[in-house]
Amino acid sequence: MAELFKNYIAGKWVAAKSNKTFENRNPANRDDLIGLFPASTAEDADAAVHAAKTTFPAWRGVPAPKRGEILYRVGELLRKYKEDIARDMTREMGKVLKETRGDVQEGIDTAFYVAGEGRRLFGETSPAELPDKFAMSVRTPIGVCTLITPWNFPMAIPTWKMFPALLCGNTVVLKPAEDTPATASRLIEILNEAGVPRGVVNLVHGRGEEVGAALVRHPEVQLVSFTGSAAVGREIAAVCGQNLKRVSLELGGKNGQIVMEDADLELAVEGALWGAFGTTGQRCTATSRLIVHRDVAKKVTEALVARAGQLKIGDGLDETVDMGPLINQPARDKVLNYITIGKQEGARLLIGGGSHETGACAKGYFFQPTIFDQVKSQMRIAQEEIFGPVLSIVEIGSFEEAIRVLNDSRYGLSSSIYTRDVGRAFRAIRDVEAGITYINGPTIGAEVHLPFGGVKDTGNGHREAGTTVYDIFTEWKSVYIDYSGKLQKAQIDNAD
Ligand code: NAD
Repeated sequence: MAELFKNYIAGKWVAAKSNKTFENRNPANRDDLIGLFPASTAEDADAAVHAAKTTFPAWRGVPAPKRGEILYRVGELLRKYKEDIARDMTREMGKVLKETRGDVQEGIDTAFYVAGEGRRLFGETSPAELPDKFAMSVRTPIGVCTLITPWNFPMAIPTWKMFPALLCGNTVVLKPAEDTPATASRLIEILNEAGVPRGVVNLVHGRGEEVGAALVRHPEVQLVSFTGSAAVGREIAAVCGQNLKRVSLELGGKNGQIVMEDADLELAVEGALWGAFGTTGQRCTATSRLIVHRDVAKKVTEALVARAGQLKIGDGLDETVDMGPLINQPARDKVLNYITIGKQEGARLLIGGGSHETGACAKGYFFQPTIFDQVKSQMRIAQEEIFGPVLSIVEIGSFEEAIRVLNDSRYGLSSSIYTRDVGRAFRAIRDVEAGITYINGPTIGAEVHLPFGGVKDTGNGHREAGTTVYDIFTEWKSVYIDYSGKLQKAQIDNAD
């Protein structure tokens, strides 16, 4: 019998009102049924929002340092259960164990980092322009926040959103991706164990178009924090715009790594390999374009193809495996379609290009590491997010051309340049249109205490993590205290 999972609303585990469920299967082996999850509807969304709204006044009244202490306990529990969570996560979404351990570690880092913020959440004090008057600004919580998350970082992304939201005094409803509901359920169990009061965090499972959309348009939801595809992000932003809700969007990427002729080539190849094929290319920060100087292109390409050919594909629970499966059949169909597109556009397929279904991999959505060269920047494989293990190599002849090609994208999340020339490194930092730039490192590797997000179609100007995340989850209130004992009129009493 498959395990039956539930929603978590107002401190109780409950089935969807419809009593319907959906299946969650292991992408490395479709015979492995992880469990049945509630197929929630607008009714469940309404119950979850109601619970979050009801508890908001009490939660916002808990002093921020105390809220931080609870989150600290969450961090300790995540650390205690890290290995089990990582194993379950690999079974649920396929990436290899060392990466799922990293995913949980990001949650731990976020918990400890955010917990400390409970004793800061600083506002500003400022001189007032009138005598005997005091001025300051303070952060206040916003209310009920809907958090909608993708499947590729099933622990890290919910925690990036939820922990700061809670620390700031908001209550939340989490709607995790359909492909990773078990990890989200585990997170909620841990929050309970840590002592988060009932109703402060609510969880509803189900389809984005159904329960996700209901949560976005719900009139009692003040803020939507979304990470996922640009297509869905646009829809959500439109609804939020109509209803004047705050919305923060973390969307797609088409990240490029530049390799100049003066680079440490071995290091650059190592970085590209990790950036392109880590998480089977299914990261928003994955390296999908390698922009290489023509003087070193042959050497770099040959080394990359040789290394890609040695990657071991298989079940991520096997510690010797380098690359797990894609998330599901539609993802594999999409990647296969881009292989056809790349060939039709005239790019040269150097390695991979097909499913990997031999032996123990027969029942999963495995795909070969794939590299195209002779790619031109305007080709679709160099422009569109493929979200699979596919690297497009574009040759360039100068630093200026490299920057032009890197910036020739509707997205602007992560970027990287390998060079030994400090001048080029600083010009890249200045001129690359991206939220993140790495020098001599791959496009992957964000740390939780720096702002995370991108420019152009990657988002709408917000930044998660860092200290910037508190600007998403709080309102500013300016406060004036007049102790003069008389009516003082700003801009009038002190006019020239
Ligand atoms: P997706 O947009 O299909 O789904 C994301 C979430 O939105 C899921 O929970 C889904 O159920 C929900 N959803 C779908 N339709 C909805 C609707 N109409 N209303 C409300 N919710 C809806 O994305 P995905 O396939 O899960 O994730 C992959 C995408 O996420 C890629 O584009 C990737 O680049 C992006 N991503 C971005 C970041 C970032 O921080 N910038 C991080 C990870 C992933």
